[in-house]
Amino acid sequence: MCRHLAYIGTPVPLAELLLVPDHGLLAQSWAPRRQRYGTVNADGFGVGWYAPGDPVPARYRRSVPIWADRSFADVARVTSSPAVLAAVRSATPGMPPDESAAAPYAHGPWLFSHNGRVEDWPHALEELAASLPPARLLALEAQVDSALLWALVQERLAAGADAGEALIQVVNAVSSVAGGRFNFLLTDGTAIAATAAGDSLFWRTGPGGVVVASEPSDESPGWQEVPDNSLLTATPGHVEVRPIPTLTKEHAAT
Ligand code: GLN
Repeated sequence: MCRHLAYIGTPVPLAELLLVPDHGLLAQSWAPRRQRYGTVNADGFGVGWYAPGDPVPARYRRSVPIWADRSFADVARVTSSPAVLAAVRSATPGMPPDESAAAPYAHGPWLFSHNGRVEDWPHALEELAASLPPARLLALEAQVDSALLWALVQERLAAGADAGEALIQVVNAVSSVAGGRFNFLLTDGTAIAATAAGDSLFWRTGPGGVVVASEPSDESPGWQEVPDNSLLTATPGHVEVRPIPTLTKEHAAT
């Protein structure tokens, strides 16, 4: 389904990261190489990035394919950032193709993206939504499984979980209710947390930083594949990959 990418490191022009590479997010929108579900990613796109000295990221999202937005290409050429999260979307059947449903989702310093789907939707919605306070439900950014997953992640972050813990808890909580694929990216601009849970995920360090992406942007030899059912955490100088522990239902729900 969707393809997404996060970067953290020295400032880089958005175009260098997303548009210029032979197999970057732009190319992946019409010719992904490792996508297991769906064919093209033309149901919108989004880019979130941080400006030095400002903890709250900017977001640019559209409901059109990334290749159709020439203005974004122009802005991306001259906009540099030390931390970026971007996605091109292939909407899950039945989910609206709106701009509001294009990742990244955002709140405060956080950017979030989901590559995958919750099976048995909207049935699973009932049980998952029941675990959320009404205010969190009313604040959902879109009528999409990913927006609900983001609300569940925010709930864990608000309860004090760190980024990696929050993602693990949500993968476990949702898996205990419904099947699905739960590849997440989450960043606050200083670190990246990511899950490989049903779809492809790769990472590469250098030059200048670390890239975590659904698939390699180029043919350089540094790309490493993340095994399925793993949590990846990354800062510019350090990448760690470990298996996602299966939590008890009670623990996952907290
Ligand atoms: N289910 C999500 C959506 O419809 C993500 C889709 C995807 O990964 N392709 O937006």
